[in-house]
Formats: sequence, C-alpha cells, structure tokens
Amino acid sequence: MVELEPKRMLVALAQMPKAELHLHLEGAPSRRTLREALHRHHRWELPQTPPFQAPDFRFADFGEFKGCFSRYSNPWLQTKRGYAELMEDVVESLVEERIRYVELNFNVATVDRLKLDLETVLEQLAVSVTTAGDRGTIIRMIVGIDRAQGSENARLQVERMLPYPVISGFDLHGLETPETRADRFQDTGAIAQESGKKVKVHAGEMDGPASIHAAVATVGIAQIGHGTSAIESPEVVNFLLERGVVLEMCPTSNERLGNVSSYQNHPILALDQASVKVTVNSDVHKKVQPSPQAPLPFWERGLG
Ligand SMILES: [Zn+2]
Repeated sequence: MVELEPKRMLVALAQMPKAELHLHLEGAPSRRTLREALHRHHRWELPQTPPFQAPDFRFADFGEFKGCFSRYSNPWLQTKRGYAELMEDVVESLVEERIRYVELNFNVATVDRLKLDLETVLEQLAVSVTTAGDRGTIIRMIVGIDRAQGSENARLQVERMLPYPVISGFDLHGLETPETRADRFQDTGAIAQESGKKVKVHAGEMDGPASIHAAVATVGIAQIGHGTSAIESPEVVNFLLERGVVLEMCPTSNERLGNVSSYQNHPILALDQASVKVTVNSDVHKKVQPSPQAPLPFWERGLG
C-alpha cells in the first residue's frame, strides 16, 4: 500500500468512490439540516455543535443514545414531509461524499410509534431512492427490526414489509443481549431469506462473540453489523474466515457508545491482519472529527 500523509489521505478518501454498508437513516441527517428543520417546524433553537460531537464524549449507555432519536429526529419525522426532507438531505450528503452504494437502515418501528401512514412514508423514500440513482448513488433500503420487541414482532414486520419493492432487505438491530441473539429469530430469518431479499444482523456490538457465531451458524448471515467482539475468540475469527463473512465495522460509533475504549483499541486492524473481510462504515455518527490533540485515529494509521 502506498503510504500517504494523513492530510493527503483524507483528500484521497474524499475523492474516492465509496460504499457505505451500515448507515441508519434516522441518525444520518446533517447537523445543519436537522437544526433548520426543527426550527422551521417547532421553532426550536439547537446549539450549532451538539455535546456528543465533543472528542471525549461517550454515551452513558444504549438507552441514552437511543434517546437522541426520540429527542431530535422524531419531532421532525412526525411532520408531513419529515421523511421526505430527511431523505433529501441524506441523498445530498451521500452524493457529495462520493458514496456510490449504500445500504440504508430504516427503522419501521419509528413509523408505527409516530402513527404515520406506512405507504406514504415508503413512497417518500422511493422518490429519493430514484433521485439518488439518477445522480449515481445506489440506495438499498434495509428494514431495521428491533430485536428487543421479540421474535413474533419480527416475523410480523418482515411479512408486512416483504411486498414493497423499495425494500431490499432486513436487519436485526437494537439492544443486544444473550436473550436477543439471532438464533431466537431463525424462523423469521428463513422467511426473509427465502424471499430473495438481503438479510443482515447487528451482532458482537454489545454482546460477546457467541452472538456473532449464533447469527452466522444458525441464520446463515454473511454480513454482520459491527462484529467488534469477534476478536475475543480465535474460534469465531476462524469461523468468519471459513464462511467469508463481511463485517460492517463502525469505529466511531463503537467509541462513542463505549463498546471499545478508543479508536486505538478498536479491533478493525487486528481483524484485517487476520484476513477477515472488514469494511469501514458510519452507523449514525457522520462527520465526527477528532480534535487535533487526540491520538491518531485508525484511518490515519492505514489498513494493510
Ligand atoms: Zn447500526
């Protein structure tokens, strides 16, 4: 690999066509657009820079992190053109950042919680998917299913969403515990896979390597969201290699949520060294920049 100075590497990365395999729609708006939208719709005045963008900020737990969606995104999404405005902003960022392919997670539970009409929301999403395609960015909408709501809810949501052409796949997300591992959702996974749509699972983000093993071994998942804890088990690392599983790693998210202590302790480089297929993704925290005083982030040390 050609060694580049950090600044030149950033410029090269900005210009390079890229893929984003792990991005949650509801957490992806630019700060400026979110502030403008909440001011326009609700007359709210949000600070220019939110506290969670401070270099040393860490969420107390997953609940606090999820609370940001309720506080900031939902009051916008519940307005008539909320999803349309959000998608327009996200498409603008994706095109600007030269992201040519994105798997965009859409949390269907939010639509229900806000008592919105699903058909209307999906039409709004479809319009932006087409616009993005015309501008050279392929968007695949992936329905995020909350694992905390149980396997029966997961099955109902998959069956409900299967008929819509704008939906390209499914992802199991939410609070990860030994009780919500993917093997509990095996039947739903099979229904989704038989439909020919993509099926992914968040695993090994908040739970240990057994969660990753369960997703791959019992549901046959080939693309894992995060997979951070794989590094704790040489057996799981070998298993990922054997099956050719791709990890959608999200170092900034893992740091902010405290799933790793810092960029420097993130396992992405070690997993790359072990020849696991790793990819770098945003999750939700787009454009968070470390301070000049902070130690070099992983992308300035280079992937082998
Ligand atoms: Zn995620």
